[in-house]
Amino acid sequence: MADDYVVPVPATVHLPVAGGGRFPIRRIYCVGRNYAEHAIEMGHDPDREPPFFFSKPADAVVASGSALRFPSMTDDLHHEIELVVAIGTEGSEISEDEALDRVYGYGVGLDMTRRDVQATAKKMGRPWDLAKGFDASAPCGPIRSVTDVGHPSAGAITLSVNGEVRQSGDLAQQIWRVPEVIAYLSRYVSLAPGDLIMTGTPAGVTRVQPGDELNGVVEGVGEVNVRYLDR
Ligand code: MN
Repeated sequence: MADDYVVPVPATVHLPVAGGGRFPIRRIYCVGRNYAEHAIEMGHDPDREPPFFFSKPADAVVASGSALRFPSMTDDLHHEIELVVAIGTEGSEISEDEALDRVYGYGVGLDMTRRDVQATAKKMGRPWDLAKGFDASAPCGPIRSVTDVGHPSAGAITLSVNGEVRQSGDLAQQIWRVPEVIAYLSRYVSLAPGDLIMTGTPAGVTRVQPGDELNGVVEGVGEVNVRYLDR
């Protein structure tokens, strides 16, 4: 019975695909500390940690071009510019050799973070959910298909705030490459069409203020732009 839901059915969150169509969002996984210099700036040894993951709810995604309410409960909102992998076909225990076959395309996303909430969670051994998975915490540009952009493994990844570059790196600096990330993650969970994987951020994360405009670019993939409203 399609009409017996007792509350309104949530809409399927989606992102536009460059050239036409929509990519539906099922789950969002994020890789922690995947660029050495960012791991170091957060106080960790980049050489000795296997990849680890956290997640955001699907409806944390907001489209590029949005004007966003400044998040509550933080005095230290940080930007993290990331290459986003969009999964197109299902799989679990995927081998590295077959991993890229599961990819529909790529996008450019922001893993917005309440750094103060995260710092407290780390100190107390608590989950990161409300530091990472809050409303509108995953702004994302259009998805570009593999047919369109191939499998980008090198290229500049930058984030500017009000036109000033804050983060600057290269996809080639990723500690865990996309095939390794997919293979590793798929040992823990089944991946399925509609999953997004945010693949980590380069060094240079800084505080965002109300009124700031963020512009993230991944060379060869695209960009994401958002503006925070005054509080
Ligand atoms: Mn991140």
